[in-house]
Amino acid sequence: MSIKNISLSGKKVEASRKKMSFLESIYFIAILKGMMITIRHFFKKKITVQYPEQKREFSPVYRGQHVLMRDQEGRERCTACGLCALACPAEAITMTAAERKKGEEHLYREEKYAAVYEINMLRCIFCGLCEDACPKEAIFLTKSQEMVKVGMDRESFIYGKDKLVVN
Ligand code: SF4
Ligand code: SF4
Repeated sequence: MSIKNISLSGKKVEASRKKMSFLESIYFIAILKGMMITIRHFFKKKITVQYPEQKREFSPVYRGQHVLMRDQEGRERCTACGLCALACPAEAITMTAAERKKGEEHLYREEKYAAVYEINMLRCIFCGLCEDACPKEAIFLTKSQEMVKVGMDRESFIYGKDKLVVN
């Protein structure tokens, strides 16, 4: 063991260092210990999921991508009442209502419809309150684990009717 006197801001401190053996000085023991940990983990059950080939099992109450539903005749169910936007704690939903014109009865179920319906996915917390608030059963959160698209800018995460309305 070597003992040294070191002066730290005027105070004298006595520092000691244990003399290393030859095996310690070439890090043989440290490398061996590291290899033992690696080998131990090598034979353990792997928890990495090889996405997208493998899909993780999610909870039955998992909520994913939203969809705006159509009725049995293919008409949009949403009447732009705004209740989902009111219920949304993240203020993620915006819409613009429009009056259904003559000849559009096959497109929209009621006299009013959402000409613009947008969800800001960067704000959404997937709470499902919009789904609960909707009196027309027009909006649902699916079990989908994949977003319609990813993006490099904020605008890419504003989902409009083109991504939300089911075909
Ligand atoms: S899931 Fe929740 S946060 Fe997302 S849009 Fe619906 S109400 Fe808003
Ligand atoms: S999705 Fe439902 S609650 Fe939201 S505006 Fe349309 S009808 Fe109203």
